[in-house]
Amino acid sequence: MDEMNKKPPTYVTQPLLPPLEEFIPYLEQIWDNKWLTNNGPFHQQFEQALCEHLGVNHISLFANGTLALVTALQALRITGEVITTPYSFVATAHSLLWNGIKPIFVDIDPDTLNLDPARIEAAITPQTTAIMPVHCYGHPCDVEHIQQIADNYGLKVIYDAAHAFGVEHQDGSVLRHGDLSILSFHATKVFNTFEGGAIVCQDAKTKRHIDHLKNFGFVDEVTVVASGINGKMSEINAAFGMLQLKGIKAAIQKRQAIDARYRRGLANLKGIHCLPDTGEKTPNYAYFPILVQPDHPLSRDEVYDKLHQHGIHARRYFYPLISDFPMYRGMPSAAHANLPVARKIAEQVICLPIFPDLADEQIDYIIDLLAH
Ligand SMILES: *Cc1c(COP(=O)(O)O)cnc(C)c1O
Repeated sequence: MDEMNKKPPTYVTQPLLPPLEEFIPYLEQIWDNKWLTNNGPFHQQFEQALCEHLGVNHISLFANGTLALVTALQALRITGEVITTPYSFVATAHSLLWNGIKPIFVDIDPDTLNLDPARIEAAITPQTTAIMPVHCYGHPCDVEHIQQIADNYGLKVIYDAAHAFGVEHQDGSVLRHGDLSILSFHATKVFNTFEGGAIVCQDAKTKRHIDHLKNFGFVDEVTVVASGINGKMSEINAAFGMLQLKGIKAAIQKRQAIDARYRRGLANLKGIHCLPDTGEKTPNYAYFPILVQPDHPLSRDEVYDKLHQHGIHARRYFYPLISDFPMYRGMPSAAHANLPVARKIAEQVICLPIFPDLADEQIDYIIDLLAH
């Protein structure tokens, strides 16, 4: 191929960025206020605006999603063992290790790729205190079944909802389930504030406690009630979040069109399986995973390499499994025999590029590469 005419690579995601000039007035306001962090005006506005946009009662903003996860576990005083999924981004389990908690990996459901509720009970021990499921790719977990198990055994439920911005079930926001839900606003996510995150909680008292924990444990100038951390979101990120909210609906509509075009184009390709629509009321089309199955002429890694060679930087989310990383792989629950479904999916999955500015020609080019 002529190097001069080579197109720039297409990455799996490209951040949503409004025109720069639209952000300038926000910056001017911060410069005027001279209030840079610690619950400033944009921070307060953004928490309120997110509650309204997402249809939840209380939100506490964070500097990133990982600090939100770590703090959520602290807020509920989780200890001992927590049941979680191996099929996620590594921060899910890392947040447990950072709190001295032992992750117990449980296999996933082959259709939703979320923690399989039918397998949770067998993993509960006297040390179990909580369940930490992930709404993988933004597809809601079986929240009712998980809550029923949690209620029976007296466990807390903390959802890693990093993928689930704006996702609604038939009964409203999926973020209203469990004791706490965590969001990430990292640059690669559907909704970003460069870096950012949040904890969604159900009552004002819990939010107050979380607000103390993210500010070193300070309640007032002279009172520190816990060994809190610095998890605060700055005014720049909060202001950017206010601006981003204006464009999020249109951005998700564009993702929907991309999802539909992929599904049409890939429908009859031998050995390429698209995850079925999970039927939520408002999906967010955060990812476009495909499974490369044994009857496809190429292996998953051959497909991955071929896409890369043609400038399509697809990603194998989630491969390797979290349970295969060195700090986890010696644990009994990380054993291959315990996680057959997650293993199989991790060997077959590729996430194709999906982001609002992805052009139709580029989608068709990717479909074409997969077809020939
Ligand atoms: C992105 C992500 C996180 C971490 O969020 P950060 O904001 O990057 O710290 C945690 N869990 C999952 C499932 C994620 O995808």
